[in-house]
Amino acid sequence: MDTTALPACPKCKQTDQIQKVTSIYGLNTKEWYETRTTTDSDGHTSSYRERHEAHTQLGLKLKMPNQPAQPTHPGLWYGIGGFVAFILLVTLCPLALIPFSFIIPLAGAAAAFVPTVQGVPTWLISAAVIGLPTLCAIAVGVGLLVWLGIKVKQRFDRDMKSYKDKKVVWDRDEMPRWQAAKNRWDQLYYCLRDETVFIPSENKAVTLDDMVKYLYDPYYKA
Ligand SMILES: [Zn+2]
Repeated sequence: MDTTALPACPKCKQTDQIQKVTSIYGLNTKEWYETRTTTDSDGHTSSYRERHEAHTQLGLKLKMPNQPAQPTHPGLWYGIGGFVAFILLVTLCPLALIPFSFIIPLAGAAAAFVPTVQGVPTWLISAAVIGLPTLCAIAVGVGLLVWLGIKVKQRFDRDMKSYKDKKVVWDRDEMPRWQAAKNRWDQLYYCLRDETVFIPSENKAVTLDDMVKYLYDPYYKA
């Protein structure tokens, strides 16, 4: 227990039912770890520790709000998307080559139908029949990829800009606001008689339901 003199409650003006919020919160919160074991496809087992937390009703009410979540860098999502696209491409490319297997016999047929057109050798006709559609397909494919690349780049730049804006707000406003509220929470005392919390230097009793609002705004009026 705290040996320093306890501050008096602003409401009942007594010290006998006062406790530091950080310590009652600790007493009303149970934290434990469970070890979980997973086995991968090669039969290797690995274990990891999973954190669990349980609160009594009082503990839950005295809990400090969670740290605001940091915005996610868009690079993560584009990395995952790129990986999926790569796998799809590797799987689908052999399928895209199937139409070409029809062109090769076609070249032979064309060469048979047009034996010698004004002295043009058969190999040139075959080459044209195979080569032209192939070139066309490659050109269309490359064109599509370039178009897709430009679209993805534009989208990425937009997402990056919105991420940077959110990050600025998070760094400049959300995080310092939360940190200030957390510092105030560390100074809170709880009166069991009135079920109110207070910061000694501010001498104002606040109900548990208003605790979070009070932490974020010292001038908050109930
Ligand atoms: Zn009191």
